[in-house]
Amino acid sequence: MKPAAQAWVRPEVAAMHAYHVADARGMIKLDAMENPFPLPPALQEELGSRLGRVAVNRYPDPSGGGLKVRLADAFGIPPAAQLLLGNGSDELITLVTQALARPGATMLALEPSFVMYRVNAELAGMRYVGVPLNADFSLNLDALLAAIEAHQPALVFIAYPNNPTGNRYARADVEAVLAAAPGLVVVDEAYQAFADDSLMDLAGEVDNLLVMRTLSKVGLAGIRLGYAAGAAAWVSEIDKVRPPYNVNVLTQEAAHFALDHLALFDEQAALLRAERARLFAGLAALPGVEVFASEANFVTCRVAGAGALFAALKARGILIKKLDGAHPLLENCLRFTVGAPEENDAVLSALQQELA
Ligand code: PMP
Repeated sequence: MKPAAQAWVRPEVAAMHAYHVADARGMIKLDAMENPFPLPPALQEELGSRLGRVAVNRYPDPSGGGLKVRLADAFGIPPAAQLLLGNGSDELITLVTQALARPGATMLALEPSFVMYRVNAELAGMRYVGVPLNADFSLNLDALLAAIEAHQPALVFIAYPNNPTGNRYARADVEAVLAAAPGLVVVDEAYQAFADDSLMDLAGEVDNLLVMRTLSKVGLAGIRLGYAAGAAAWVSEIDKVRPPYNVNVLTQEAAHFALDHLALFDEQAALLRAERARLFAGLAALPGVEVFASEANFVTCRVAGAGALFAALKARGILIKKLDGAHPLLENCLRFTVGAPEENDAVLSALQQELA
């Protein structure tokens, strides 16, 4: 008999679990930071006919040059910055990590944060150093600067605002990290549409900064488009790792379509910010619930018996994210994606009943 697949794959792969996505069919889906609003019917029609005219027999624009120009224009990306597109920002995280994974090189990230930083470090054979946040999820700048000094990381990831905690660190602290880090600092602004600050104005100006964003959270999670902006010297190196034609023609056309209708996505983001405030207040009013301030499209809270509460909501047809168990600092934490008004009402009333 031939040896089993596990005997052939890399040991670090054999030890991994595949990225788990919960089955949400028929449920109120508040687990994955999606925008809850589908496209209005007239725009569905327009998108359909535009996609129908795309030349699917041809490879896409290899680096998405036309789309980059439009993104730069729409999102105020400084002229000094160069752009890189990815199949979601997930792919950009992979490209950056692959490019910087020299033997012995270190990736440094805050913890808890987006798990794919660590996963990519492991897959690329990079050393990974996680620097814990404070118990209230604020940044321990002294610890972070000390870790940078000690480990001289090739790559630092900072999610700004952070997932899964929702908070945004002080801009001055991130600027201190940029000044101290010997290598590249990725500021992951996946939740920028819901935040009160961005470091995009420094992209291309500060040599070792790469600002990463995505269209996923604002209403286009299905098209998988991420973009990163930084100094040409860094972007051109990372671009060498990018597979040819990584952003397909349908995604490129759908992104052009979205840029033609930006006002709609901006309105929805404003509505979701208002709903976030309402969800925050509703959660804070519940007995025994500690809510953390958020500048993202989700709200994280801590409540005794979080695991049981997660299961009870699931039994009621509401899927949220259980953070408890994912990291010591996330004990009894739950994450609620901000949904449509009626979904947020449903979650609050279910919680009122469960916690009564
Ligand atoms: N960065 C952060 C901080 C995230 O939370 C996520 C999605 N959960 C991503 C990147 C990846 O987003 P996408 O691949 O959809 O662009």
